[in-house]
Amino acid sequence: MLELSARAAAAAVASGELSSRELFEAYRERAAADRQAGSAGLNCFTWVAGPAPVDGAPAPLHGVPVAVKDLFCVQDVPSQAGSRILEGYRPPYTATAVARLRSAGAALLAKTNQDEFAMGSSNENSAFGAVLNPWDRTRVPGGSSGGSAAAVAAGLAPWALGTDTGGSIRQPAALCGIVGMKPTYGAVSRYGMIAFASSLDQAGPLTRDVADAALMLRHIAAADPCDATSLGLAEVADPTAERLDGVRLGVAEELSGEGIEAGVLEAFGAALRTAEELGAQIASVRLPHAPHALSAYYVLAPAEASSNLARFDGVRYGLRAEGAEDLLSMYTRTRHDGFGAEVKRRIMLGTYALSSGYYEAFYGRAQRVRTKIADDFAAAFEVVDFIVSPTSPTVAFELGERTADPLAMYLSDSCTVPMSLAGVPAISIPCGLSAGLPVGLQLAGPAFSESRLLDVAHALEGALGFDSGAARA
Ligand code: GLN
Repeated sequence: MLELSARAAAAAVASGELSSRELFEAYRERAAADRQAGSAGLNCFTWVAGPAPVDGAPAPLHGVPVAVKDLFCVQDVPSQAGSRILEGYRPPYTATAVARLRSAGAALLAKTNQDEFAMGSSNENSAFGAVLNPWDRTRVPGGSSGGSAAAVAAGLAPWALGTDTGGSIRQPAALCGIVGMKPTYGAVSRYGMIAFASSLDQAGPLTRDVADAALMLRHIAAADPCDATSLGLAEVADPTAERLDGVRLGVAEELSGEGIEAGVLEAFGAALRTAEELGAQIASVRLPHAPHALSAYYVLAPAEASSNLARFDGVRYGLRAEGAEDLLSMYTRTRHDGFGAEVKRRIMLGTYALSSGYYEAFYGRAQRVRTKIADDFAAAFEVVDFIVSPTSPTVAFELGERTADPLAMYLSDSCTVPMSLAGVPAISIPCGLSAGLPVGLQLAGPAFSESRLLDVAHALEGALGFDSGAARA
């Protein structure tokens, strides 16, 4: 039962081979055991559901359990975005993406651990402790959707919902040997997602295979009157391609050369040869402004975060510092006690970048770089159908290795941030191992090309035949 993809599990329930209650209980017990084990487990979850919900009316997802990143608001369920400042917060409403999955028949299994407010690449910034990588427990699962990625890889959840602002679905998917997809900005409603950087945040699937990613995306993507930036997607097709004849894949030297570990480049090169054997044409493309993507991102994302996080003042949600003598000291003490170091760093960076006299020099300039990056992608997609690169410059790194050096941590997203700034969709699929650890292959396409992108990923996945069994052992 635990080896089934979400799609196969739904089919087994539909045909009566499996009861949805049995399926839910099996996963719930595994998730609850991980939660109980604390630091002796993987620490994937911040909350696990109670015993199986009653079987509902038949719906397309047939009661398949889903784990959801902590930052998705779920009515009456702790939703803390990995932060102390939201301690005890139980929202009065449910995020649209989660509500859509539920109305399609999915059952909420658990909330997953994450970097605080989705700021991080290793899940070490969580107020609820680090998550461990199921391939090697001395290593990070990636972040910020690290709990979601590790849970799926370890077989503690059939699939999970995450969010990606600069790489937080794709990079942990790569480090944990699973599939992760960031849809086109606007494909999925952000309503009820505790915000980090609103012009970049996007929800998406973390799954065992590409077909499951398509299935989840189909159910979460929609225009939503509660999110004015949501547009939805045309019906997401089931990926069926086995060949890549006529597909033009572009390799950008800016994303696949300098700074990428040798073992990652080797697996990436082998995946390109597999793509060629399937009929794809490989061409070089340029993304000349991609090397500036991280610099622009680390102005824009903190700027938006400093504004979004102003609402956590001890009045409206969660934590409130006790014993403050006046209102201002209550605010400052709550924020002092409630936010972790990385969040404070970003609030300071963002506030500085937006301050009068500096606004044009930092924020304005970063916005112009963002436009150049989007133009680079548009130009590249004139000559190729998709852009391929490694997802992460390295395989999963050691716990603690980058915590003292924020800049080294930020480099983890050098291959994923450009797509976020351009708003285009990208998927990471496992493409091999380096020193026994998974390597991710990233495919990016033009805005709203999700169905074609999933099809190409599906053909490659079939030919690459990555075996993820070791992480579930
Ligand atoms: N690691 C990047 C950051 O820390 C991206 C995070 C994300 O996508 N949420 O901002």
